[in-house]
Amino acid sequence: MAGKLLDAHGRKASYMRVSVTDRCNLLCRYCASKERVFIPHDRILRYEEILRCMGIARELGIEKVRFTGGEPFVRKGFMDFVEEAGRRFPDLTLAATTNATIIGKHIDRLATSGLSRVNISLDTLDRDRYRHMTGRDLFQVVRDNIDACVDAGMTVKVNAVGVRGFNDDELPAFLELARTRPVDVRFIEFMPIGQDTGWSEGSVWTASDIIREASELEKLVPVAERHRGPATMYALAAGKGRLGVISPYSNHFCGSCNRLRLTSEGDLRTCLFSDRVFHLRKILRHPRLKDEHVVRVVRTALKSKPIGHDLLAAKRERGVCSTKMAAIGG
Ligand code: SAM
Repeated sequence: MAGKLLDAHGRKASYMRVSVTDRCNLLCRYCASKERVFIPHDRILRYEEILRCMGIARELGIEKVRFTGGEPFVRKGFMDFVEEAGRRFPDLTLAATTNATIIGKHIDRLATSGLSRVNISLDTLDRDRYRHMTGRDLFQVVRDNIDACVDAGMTVKVNAVGVRGFNDDELPAFLELARTRPVDVRFIEFMPIGQDTGWSEGSVWTASDIIREASELEKLVPVAERHRGPATMYALAAGKGRLGVISPYSNHFCGSCNRLRLTSEGDLRTCLFSDRVFHLRKILRHPRLKDEHVVRVVRTALKSKPIGHDLLAAKRERGVCSTKMAAIGG
């Protein structure tokens, strides 16, 4: 199995996002189609199959795994699974992306499970807007759970999709959150993924506009990251947390992309903007096929990992893509 995962452009895959379910308890307008068709349960990877993939990925050089969805916490047994992953793979950095609506009762367990980093999606700090955007009146629950995660000693990032005409007047409130709580608040550019999400060129609140507008309100000091991820971060004077922007739309980071994605039905994706998938579920379930067969598919997938710019450009023209974010996991 030896040999790390290098793609044809010399990029090393070290980070895998795993969607554990396509189901979600929210219906965010920019993310989910109103017509919800869920993947049947028997096509969703079992936890044991995900753990097997994680073990193989780790052997190939994956260092960090992020659980996402759908909403990972809606899947039955997710906390037991996280604890098992923490026990089996103490050397992997484990993280989760969640809407934090139903994690309240799990926070103490999470904090000791080996998964101590959570990205919490919260696109507005206004209760009515939250209800309008997600279809649920759960703003205060999420806000309280952010504090509870911080108090439990977890590393918390708050991710907000920046949408013109929706939350582009909320910089003062988000800056206040980053100033007063030790959380990184990061705006993600609205991406043309999924159908009937309301995406248009004009709805993208670009990273450069966000930073320019925030600089008018607050002195922002660029932070040189030791391990640079996709976010460009800024410190705030006397801020406990920081402000950041992630610009997959206006300033793609394809050249340094280190990601692989495993979807909830066991498809491997090498690029968020590509609809090409490599099927692993059948191999995982085949009684005579072994880990080496999985490895072969992973390596083949990696070899064809694109530089996503051109694909993004095509999607920009059409404004949609057939895949739903909830199935890929963001
Ligand atoms: N349920 C979890 C959550 O709410 O974070 C995880 C799944 S969600 C699909 C993962 C991330 O994708 C969230 O931060 C969400 O805001 C982001 N996302 C969904 N659709 C998006 C879009 N069209 N553009 C940018 N980000 C999007």
